[in-house]
Amino acid sequence: MGKVLIIGAGGVGTVVAHKMAALPEVFSEIMLASRTKAKCDEIANKIGGNRIQTAQVDAENVPQLVELIRNFKPDLVVNVALPYQDLPIMDACLETETSYLDTANYEPKDEAKFEYKWQWAYQNRFKEAGITAILGCGFDPGVTSIYTAYAAKHHFDEINYLDIVDCNAGDHGKAFATNFNPEINIREVTQKGKYWKDGKWVETEPHEIHKPLNYPEIGPKESYLIYHEELESLVKNFPTIKQARFWMTFGQEYLTHLRVIQNIGMAGIEPVMYEGKEIVPIQFLKAVLPNPGDLGENYKGWTSIGCRIKGLKDGKEKTYYVYNNCSHEVAYQETGTQGVSYTTGVPAMIGAMMYLKGLWKKPGVFNVEEFDPDPFMAELNIHGLPWNEIHDTDLEMEY
Ligand code: NDP
Repeated sequence: MGKVLIIGAGGVGTVVAHKMAALPEVFSEIMLASRTKAKCDEIANKIGGNRIQTAQVDAENVPQLVELIRNFKPDLVVNVALPYQDLPIMDACLETETSYLDTANYEPKDEAKFEYKWQWAYQNRFKEAGITAILGCGFDPGVTSIYTAYAAKHHFDEINYLDIVDCNAGDHGKAFATNFNPEINIREVTQKGKYWKDGKWVETEPHEIHKPLNYPEIGPKESYLIYHEELESLVKNFPTIKQARFWMTFGQEYLTHLRVIQNIGMAGIEPVMYEGKEIVPIQFLKAVLPNPGDLGENYKGWTSIGCRIKGLKDGKEKTYYVYNNCSHEVAYQETGTQGVSYTTGVPAMIGAMMYLKGLWKKPGVFNVEEFDPDPFMAELNIHGLPWNEIHDTDLEMEY
């Protein structure tokens, strides 16, 4: 049906490649390109069957990207490299008139800022070129945004309160490791908290607001209010939302390590001079931390991510909780990666499928909640991330 170029051969890229390779009727030709070609070759060899071609590319170099895209001629570029590369990849897509999909919003290297403004600025150019950009198609952002769109379509006349709850109850057996790229992860969780309340953003100190929440099949876990990028597009696309928050669980051990890392300056994003060479502390830290892609082997337990929603249906108040629980062990058995890479890679594959099937195809730049959620929700049940829903339950959120 279509040709796809995947950029990025980390944990998420591994899952996307595995999942696409298993669906030749949708993904007829697949190329996996990244900074280090050897990593692409390793993934391609593991999958076997000559399903995946590989290439080397620096995704911050637009002419290199353009050449690669012109040679391979994909229908869609799936960006699962790092958020820093979003804009150069979008530039190359514009130049070659190729559609685009990613899982994380652009972030400038010198500023830990999660905002869509840079990518939304491509709207007119993508529209004029007649190509589609699908933004934020991982789990969160991604499935959480699609859950919200599905709730708005089927269960509510208006959504008033939205709490996205992200629990990782897994144990990888390491004293400290991050579940996806350490640099991006630490930048995300050490920034100030922020949530939407009555038409404006309310800022909090990092991890200032927290409480135990009960997760299905897992039980209570301390959950911390942090800022997460899908809140920005969701409050824009669902203007009846009065309050939108994002909660993530962290263990005490993780938070203690994080505090020490910050206190000693290792989370810094400004370059420092070391023995005559400029180094960025957080990039050096990444080099010594466990590779998130290697955590899978000993990872036990579950992730549980979902949306707790309160609003109105037929003039009456209603609550709704939709979620997925994903087993790290099962994810590892299938793809050789842990649950966080799995829960990101599967939705990226499904988003690409939606595009190639013509179901999510319109000129311009869109967040995933702007497309029809129904075919995507159906594919989640088929491809390893089945969802559950609970109606009219106590959401524990004290509105
Ligand atoms: P990894 O660090 O494991 O992998 C990133 C990959 O990108 C590596 O293969 C890396 O190459 C490659 N890369 C980095 N810089 C360049 C460059 N300049 N040119 C070409 N390739 C490059 O990250 P993950 O797989 O864990 O995460 C991938 C993406 O998914 C990130 O953007 C992350 O923010 C996002 N994500 C989204 C989630 C969601 O739910 N929406 C959840 C988790 C992650 P090399 O191997 O040479 O370093």
